[in-house]
Amino acid sequence: MNVHSIRFRLVAWYAGLLTVIFMIICALLFLDLRRFLEHELRQRQFRRAHQVATTLVAHIPQISEDTVARQVKDWYEPEANDRFIRIIRQDGTLVYRSQTPGDGSFDASEVPLLPAHIPAEFSQVLKLSDGKTLLLASLSVPVNKTSYRVEFGELLDPVETMLDHVFLQLTLAFPVAILIIAFGGYLLVTRALRPVERIAHAAEQITQHNLKERLPIAHTGDELERLSASLNRMITRLDDAFQQTNRFLADASHELRTPLTVLCGELEEFTTDDRLEVALRERTASLLEEALRLSKIVEQLFLLSRLDAGEAKAEWSQFDLADLVRTTAEQMSLLAEDKEIAISGEAPERVMIEGDRARLKQVVVNLLDNAIKYTRKRGAIKWAVHNKNSHAVLEISDTGIGIPADAVPHIFERFYRVDTVRSGDAESAGLGLSIVKSICVAHDASIEVKSSLGQGSVFSISLPAANAAASAPDKKPGAQPQHE
Ligand code: ADP
Repeated sequence: MNVHSIRFRLVAWYAGLLTVIFMIICALLFLDLRRFLEHELRQRQFRRAHQVATTLVAHIPQISEDTVARQVKDWYEPEANDRFIRIIRQDGTLVYRSQTPGDGSFDASEVPLLPAHIPAEFSQVLKLSDGKTLLLASLSVPVNKTSYRVEFGELLDPVETMLDHVFLQLTLAFPVAILIIAFGGYLLVTRALRPVERIAHAAEQITQHNLKERLPIAHTGDELERLSASLNRMITRLDDAFQQTNRFLADASHELRTPLTVLCGELEEFTTDDRLEVALRERTASLLEEALRLSKIVEQLFLLSRLDAGEAKAEWSQFDLADLVRTTAEQMSLLAEDKEIAISGEAPERVMIEGDRARLKQVVVNLLDNAIKYTRKRGAIKWAVHNKNSHAVLEISDTGIGIPADAVPHIFERFYRVDTVRSGDAESAGLGLSIVKSICVAHDASIEVKSSLGQGSVFSISLPAANAAASAPDKKPGAQPQHE
């Protein structure tokens, strides 16, 4: 679980906040319940004390203290009902005190006397020696010139037991409630964030090659609608800027092609003109070399601009990739022979694909050209074409100088060269693999590189096979260089 995700943080905050609120509410409820139960018990004791005071104690001059004591015992049966009753004179001497209850829940003789100077109506929670608590309500009854105190008491234990029970229930229900809340919160947040995931997924798919696509907009009128609309406007601006750059590249390279061709032609004529001095012809030849290099770069830039404009699919057809690679390798073996490099290949079956044959030939030429360029004398180059999981796979490996690990992620960038010394070919401009990548992207193909410095490199391209290509979703995987 990603603890930094918005989902986790929202759920954690939500569950945490509700936990605190719940705890406060439960604590307040618990304290209020305790206060209410104690208040009820106290009021009950006072009601009984009032009853005894008005019906019996107030009439002591007429009916005698003994009669009062007897009546109280008969009416309330304190021993049977687990109650404590005490009637005392003003000087603290006893008129009546109930006995220890039948169930022995407390010792009546242990209940201490209340202080002498207390209000007429007074109650106190007394702690008994066995740890039990007794709530005692005391009522002062003036009779003639003297006064009596009528005291009723009951153990608080049933209240405590009930509170303990409520506490236990809350403690058990609490984690369950929090779990339900957290799960509910998780579902809610997941639901709320689903459009964000859709936007992120759609944004991931947008590259320089499909800048015409836009993010889905859910017309909910909320922040997410605004976000996707803003992102779409940003993509439109990027598309405009990208197209402008492309147009500039296409126009510039197009404008340069003709004068460069004329220049190369003229220079070539000079190099073969016997009327010119040998030294001058030699200098012209080196100028021609530079002009040809310039012309090649311009051609490559022109090709890239056309690929960027989506012209890689000009001549779409179905053909055998194995056949294409075989014939191209044969044509290029002449180049390899100069360096005594052996090109061998295997294609055990027909590997049908759909695509622009000329463009894909360019891919094979560029890869083989690099393999020859970066392999030392008497090295070996192997190619293989086969079907794999409804894909056509082309692999070109060499025993060349390899590519340094830190350079691998950059080799598909335009004008990127590891170094000029390696190839010994000053003509290389670092555009060959950019062209390969653009053509691959246009064909929904992925390209991977595995290379070990000093041991060689393997370039693998995976294209949708002919049937799969027809039904393949319109995705555009890019190049994924790797290094071993
Ligand atoms: P270039 O035209 O300079 O070869 P590329 O775009 O074709 O440009 O290649 C970019 C860089 O990748 C090259 O400068 C080279 O160092 C490296 N490279 C490409 N292919 C190979 C290979 N088969 N072996 C070693 N290095 C390679």
